[in-house]
Amino acid sequence: MPDKEVIKCSFCGKDKHDTNVLIAGINAHICDSCIDQAIGIVDAEKAGKDSSELSEHFKLLKPQEIKNHLDKHVIGQDDAKKVLAVAVYNHYKRLMQPKKKDEEVEIEKSNIIMVGETGTGKTLLARTIAKTLNVPFCIADATVLTEAGYVGEDVESILSRLLQVADYDVKATERGIVFIDEIDKIARKSDNPSITRDVSGEGVQQAMLKLLEGSIVNVPPQGGRKHPEQKMIAVDTANILFICGGAFDGIERKIGSRLNTQSIGYKKSSEEGIDKKDILQYVAPQDLKSFGLIPELIGRMPILTFLKPLDKKVLRAILTEPKNAIIKQYQKLFEMDGIALSFDDKALDLIVDKAIEYKLGARGLRSICEAIMLDAMFEIPSQDIKSELFNISLAYAQEKLKKVSIKKLKAA
Ligand code: ADP
Repeated sequence: MPDKEVIKCSFCGKDKHDTNVLIAGINAHICDSCIDQAIGIVDAEKAGKDSSELSEHFKLLKPQEIKNHLDKHVIGQDDAKKVLAVAVYNHYKRLMQPKKKDEEVEIEKSNIIMVGETGTGKTLLARTIAKTLNVPFCIADATVLTEAGYVGEDVESILSRLLQVADYDVKATERGIVFIDEIDKIARKSDNPSITRDVSGEGVQQAMLKLLEGSIVNVPPQGGRKHPEQKMIAVDTANILFICGGAFDGIERKIGSRLNTQSIGYKKSSEEGIDKKDILQYVAPQDLKSFGLIPELIGRMPILTFLKPLDKKVLRAILTEPKNAIIKQYQKLFEMDGIALSFDDKALDLIVDKAIEYKLGARGLRSICEAIMLDAMFEIPSQDIKSELFNISLAYAQEKLKKVSIKKLKAA
């Protein structure tokens, strides 16, 4: 009788008796320790691939290129653009680093906080950056967030939105950008920490820490409250870039008083350098703290920048210059009907003047334009004899604006 064939691992040659498990394939066998090794090799391959896939997925633009791109969509705000471009570049460079070894320098994540009046372009900047890099992007409103267990949304719901935008692709979600608006509204209401519980303020700030610092968060896929029956998706926030924005009404006073107290003793020389009209440019982390953000939260947003209020010149440029400028959009719409739409300079000045007069900011430019353009957009497409030119003169714009109430413009 021939010897019973001895079964061996086809990879390391180990005898079946010397292994814990030996799995049979069609013409081969593999033992448990070879499986372990193979898993290690596959993981290492994947890690390398992930970072190269990532570099294929979004072309990492240099800071200057990111800024150039932002310039096409956002007018002015050069300081914020520069700071953002560098922060985003470093953030994604960090992401593309192959899996770090222990001895290597670890680049820390740098979330960003932007301070500036409403309507000055904070959301637009964050959105444009996400588009430039081709990563998932979502906007969350800090005012609807509450501490877990209270009526409102848990902080995890922010990530549900990002997951949805990324079509539930967890990998893509994990390198997305989240813009958290109105972060100033969750400031601590009083300087006295927590005598009574501050449900919508400090508690939310505390809850946000774990998102911002980089941890595995269990996210309800459909958002809303965590229901026990809902299967959670684990999302690692280590590489999600959080950009927070807020108007921080009244922070100028805090900056001013800090600058004043600092200048005691050498008042003269230091005061000379301060541009009192544009005090926001001196904003520092301690001003956010005096405003009511907790130090731990401020610490997790190490990049701080500011946006300037929009003056007449900037508003005028916003109307016509960005790639998606409102006026260009109307021209495109009319062009589709075969009509060349033009605006007199004075009509454009009027739009800007009204936005300033009614304190509507950049958002108001669109509602004012809509009020002026509505009749033309309603009538022209059904006119039999179409003229190929349509000009909006000052008189035409004035006449149309006379008919609308300021309330309506503000509501828009
Ligand atoms: P914020 O987030 O600061 O409240 P947004 O970014 O939402 O303001 O801006 C509101 C609108 O105003 C945007 O849709 C954009 O059209 C316009 N806008 C504001 N600031 C600028 C800017 N600097 N350049 C171009 N458009 C701007």
